[in-house]
Amino acid sequence: MSEYKLSKPPVVGEKITVRSDNSLAVPDNPIIPFIEGDGIGADVTKAALFVIDSAVKKAYGDKKMISWFEIFAGEKAYNLCCEWLPAETLRAITEYCVAIKGPLTTPVGGGIRSLNVAIRQKLNLYACVRPIRYFRGVPSPVKEPEKVDVVIFRENTEDVYSGIEFAQGSDECVRLIEFLRDSFGINVLHDSGIGIKPISKTATSRLMKMAVLYAKKHGLKSVTLVHKGNIMKFTEGAFKEWGYELAKSEFDDITITEDEVYKDHDGKVPEGKILIKDRIADAMFQQLLLRPEEYDVLVMPNLNGDYMSDAAIAQVGGLGLGPGANIGEKAAVFEATHGTAPKYAGMDKVNPGSLILSGVMMLDHLGFNEAATVIVDALQKTILQKRVTYDLERLMDGATLLKCSEFAKAIVENM
Ligand code: NAP
Repeated sequence: MSEYKLSKPPVVGEKITVRSDNSLAVPDNPIIPFIEGDGIGADVTKAALFVIDSAVKKAYGDKKMISWFEIFAGEKAYNLCCEWLPAETLRAITEYCVAIKGPLTTPVGGGIRSLNVAIRQKLNLYACVRPIRYFRGVPSPVKEPEKVDVVIFRENTEDVYSGIEFAQGSDECVRLIEFLRDSFGINVLHDSGIGIKPISKTATSRLMKMAVLYAKKHGLKSVTLVHKGNIMKFTEGAFKEWGYELAKSEFDDITITEDEVYKDHDGKVPEGKILIKDRIADAMFQQLLLRPEEYDVLVMPNLNGDYMSDAAIAQVGGLGLGPGANIGEKAAVFEATHGTAPKYAGMDKVNPGSLILSGVMMLDHLGFNEAATVIVDALQKTILQKRVTYDLERLMDGATLLKCSEFAKAIVENM
């Protein structure tokens, strides 16, 4: 076992391992590292772990149990060792394969753009997965929020997010502008800043593979590639082409394209086939509002995914109930999608729903599906009872205002 200086792995419990086909071997008593997070992190993490433990107990009695292992990042880590993201934290996530984390402050200065981005990049967690569904009773700005039930697979490592940027006037930027002019005859205004948008076949294919496998595992009907390939042909257009290619080469027996459905099957998807289609990103924003029931899994490059995840979550009531995970071949980190909301830190006030639902994703990932269902049902019941935290209470008539910890207790009571 690796040595840990800041953290202490629990003595009870076993490691999750990854098999050669990348599936997980999960013991009944897995050790799972968690990062509490900054600001409201302490409140939401405590609430989420309590709910997850209670659901596992409810579903399996003493047969299964999670052994939590606290690891450090953010302010807590900095206070311990003057580092925001200690190497042993990344090592623990790799060694134990699955982790859960609260929100982290973005340190000002110190050369770190964002701890979250650093974790994703260093562990090559290439897919950001965000299921977006409606819970009855949650106030929503649209008429039929219950029709939204999609899972977004956002590419996490490339696109204009990959950090290849050159400031206007910098030596590199001036040289790049000259290079484009002299070598390709392309004129870029001399006072431009430049960002570069790489999109690769490798990253697109592995994301698409994960998305199709997810659709297969969950019995979903369609996978849609969302892109701006009409304009950016060799990046987003290629993303679309490579997505179709992957579905054809690896999942020909279980997938069919929209073209094939109209050409050979009178517009009806044959039984047992997953429909592969694509939509231009701007049209997809409309589709999500007008015909959300026609979409299950959405696969998209980084920037489209960033915009669309937040737009979709707004339709079902906002970030408070939006879970997320960053998943790679060897590790997965489940996380709250909101930030540290520093003004509410330590007040036991905010909605722990995002991290609780990320816990549901984690249980599903582990194959602890019964426990995941226990949480979803109890959360739904609690919302219908109008026992909610301030963010929902202020939008609901006749609701009972609960603290963060009280909301978690109410969910557990309803299990
Ligand atoms: P934020 O922390 O998400 O908070 C913005 C607002 O969203 C809050 O004031 C609150 O709105 C609402 N909110 C957030 N979490 C909530 C919860 N659990 N329950 C109910 N309402 C919630 O965004 P920010 O203020 O822009 O960012 C603060 C820090 O978090 C920054 O350092 C940022 O870098 C970091 N951040 C981290 C992550 C992450 O770790 N994944 C993500 C985003 C931001 P009301 O006041 O209107 O109620």
